[in-house]
Amino acid sequence: MTICPNCGLPIEACVCKEIAKKDQQIEVKTEKRRFGKITTLITGLEGDVKEIAKKLKNELACGGTVKDGVIELQGNHKDKVRPVLIEAGFSDEQIKD
Ligand SMILES: [Zn+2]
Repeated sequence: MTICPNCGLPIEACVCKEIAKKDQQIEVKTEKRRFGKITTLITGLEGDVKEIAKKLKNELACGGTVKDGVIELQGNHKDKVRPVLIEAGFSDEQIKD
């Protein structure tokens, strides 16, 4: 049996990951890049950022990368990011834009 080093509970009963998820403050903002291109930045994410980025790119049908834990999406997706993050298990209150 594996014990979580954080709370001492068996991994199956551990909710540390879920709690960490709820503590995150996610910020969604747009930034104008070279040649006037808009990039959507999502900061404050922890955990499997690459997996979340993959989901966002699929749902929004756009290109994007992950740099230092920050998701960068090509284009302005500010309004569309929120529902996808909520679907991924984040709560509405922790996302600010
Ligand atoms: Zn734990």
